[in-house]
Amino acid sequence: MKSKRNPPEHIFSGMAVGTGVAIGVVHRHDSRASVHVREVRVSAAKVRSEQHRLLEAAARAASRIETLQTEAKRMSGAAGEELGYLLDAYHQMLSGSRLIRGVQKRIATDNINAEAAVMKEIGLMAEAFATMDDHYLAARVDDIREVGRRLVEALTGKKVRALAGLPRNAVIVADELSPADTASLDPQNVAGLVTLVGGVESHTAIVARSLGLPAVVAEDDILTHTRNGQPIIVDGIRGLVIVQPTARTLAEYRRRKAELQREQKSLLKLTSVPAVTKDGVAIKLMANIELPGEIETVLAAGAEGVGLFRSEFMFMNRATLPSEEEQYAALSNVVRQMGGKPVTIRTLDVGADKLGAALGMKPGPNPALGLRAIRFSLSKKKIFLTQLSAILRASAHGPVRILLPMVSTVDEIREVRKILARLTARLKRRGEKLSDPLPQLGVMIEIPGAALAADALAAESDFFAIGTNDLTQYTLAIDRTDEQVAYLYNPLHPAVLRLIQFTAEAAAAARIPVSICGEIAGDHRLTPLLLGFGISELSMAATNLPRVKKRILSLNLSAISGRVRRITAESDPARLKSLVAELSG
Ligand code: PEP
Ligand code: MG
Repeated sequence: MKSKRNPPEHIFSGMAVGTGVAIGVVHRHDSRASVHVREVRVSAAKVRSEQHRLLEAAARAASRIETLQTEAKRMSGAAGEELGYLLDAYHQMLSGSRLIRGVQKRIATDNINAEAAVMKEIGLMAEAFATMDDHYLAARVDDIREVGRRLVEALTGKKVRALAGLPRNAVIVADELSPADTASLDPQNVAGLVTLVGGVESHTAIVARSLGLPAVVAEDDILTHTRNGQPIIVDGIRGLVIVQPTARTLAEYRRRKAELQREQKSLLKLTSVPAVTKDGVAIKLMANIELPGEIETVLAAGAEGVGLFRSEFMFMNRATLPSEEEQYAALSNVVRQMGGKPVTIRTLDVGADKLGAALGMKPGPNPALGLRAIRFSLSKKKIFLTQLSAILRASAHGPVRILLPMVSTVDEIREVRKILARLTARLKRRGEKLSDPLPQLGVMIEIPGAALAADALAAESDFFAIGTNDLTQYTLAIDRTDEQVAYLYNPLHPAVLRLIQFTAEAAAAARIPVSICGEIAGDHRLTPLLLGFGISELSMAATNLPRVKKRILSLNLSAISGRVRRITAESDPARLKSLVAELSG
């Protein structure tokens, strides 16, 4: 508990991962409530029938997953797609997998009932996964446990836990929400989400954002401080959760909620208004996407194109790598849906926290500085060529740009250009239709060395995209996934701002376009500063785009140039912060 002004009102702080404000009632959901099963000895004569009972239960659990898969298909955008991938994985685990074979064997070797064998096998698998130092695999442990729970439910015929029967306006307060739980949520009844674990990139956060739900990852064990049915407020803007709010707090939040709704309505009117400053400077506003299913939202927000398609998300939550045909189908669909607006496809950005083990990468001594992103692609040519072939073929359906992540030297760009030339010739021989001219090739500027050598890189690139998330991490030596040093993570540090400015100047000198696609691009308070640097292209989560546009429409760039100059000359972080705050207005 952080503070306790009025006795019954409890305010918890946390991290805002969804947007908006929710006012509702607590619905607790504790997935830590462990599954208790009784171990019963099974005689050798009964082993076969126990194994048969297991297979029947697995079939029932798989058929329940099939129902959820149908429900997930009805969900729009990234949420449905993300859940679809996960449910496919659950289905696979329940159908003749290593897990089911392992449980069958254990029934025979340990002479125990199926329920106990499931729990033992799940425990061993989870242990083995947990010892691997990999975020992606750590998340898979929860999926394995979820499949175990479902198997036990099917065996016993009893619900182990459920998110059914939600009251209207339910705010789900959970230690964590599994994707399958989320699939069974009725969005009509859910007002908001509060969880104890999960970062801004967690499944819960992705789903919350695409469903437009306010969500907070709380710092304290809020589950032990709440009861079902208690009034609760989720402030997904400031990252606050207020349990048992006073009448005054409630009135204040009702007012804010109404204000947000009014603002949202007026922002929608800007969808087709061009983003031009008061003094006539046109700004290109693009969207970042993770999954092909997000295009509907991108178009609804009025984006002029996709400025960053993080293609690695197409490789996640699946047992095998997507084939060229599968990637081509997904990418060409995105390109067609965008109806002539450009789509910037970033090649695989894996390594460090993203997907490493799943692609058979050996974790190096320092994964954030190791074989990741473009370095990985250049070392695994088969995976890279498959992806590039799919991208080149998709370019026949509309304007496509290729973006390379984590470039640190001109040699990498030159090598990719050679690969592209060979690949183009090969695809033409195969009779494939390609775009003419071929897609432009750009690089992410997200390593300080790349920013400082931006003039050399600009000579080899068709465009730049500044990745301020990683640029901040590498400039300040702050692991962006480490909560312990999060207080030092500051994209407005003078060093980071200077690198952005240096890159923008190098791009202008080489006459190539430059955009910012890190999180700061979507922060409307920083729009004046970024535009003041001469940046005229911003790419962000589609939900942030209307608010950034509103800021642009009210801005007079020539009037702020002096203040921007003062900011770029400032080296004291505290003074710089107050100058930026002043400029933000
Ligand atoms: C960045 O680093 O700023 C970026 C946009 O890429 P990602 O967040 O995917 O690393
Ligand atoms: Mg990056």
